Amino acid sequence: MNRVTVDPIACRAHGLCADVLPELITVDEWGYPVVPGEAVPESLLAEARRAAAACPTLALRLRKT
Ligand code: SF4
Repeated sequence: MNRVTVDPIACRAHGLCADVLPELITVDEWGYPVVPGEAVPESLLAEARRAAAACPTLALRLRKT
């Protein structure tokens, strides 16, 4: 099972992850990402990997649980 996580200390609220993966990630009123707690669907794994790779501060991770 894969989950998207965000390190709130490293995140700089660029919002890039939500642009790459709008199906799963939204941003709050300050621009910080809100990620779902549940597993990333198989159909969105490639986009989730792309979103993690695009994060300029490495705050967004795709973790196997
Ligand atoms: S791309 Fe990275 S730094 Fe930017 S909002 Fe997403 S997690 Fe935060």
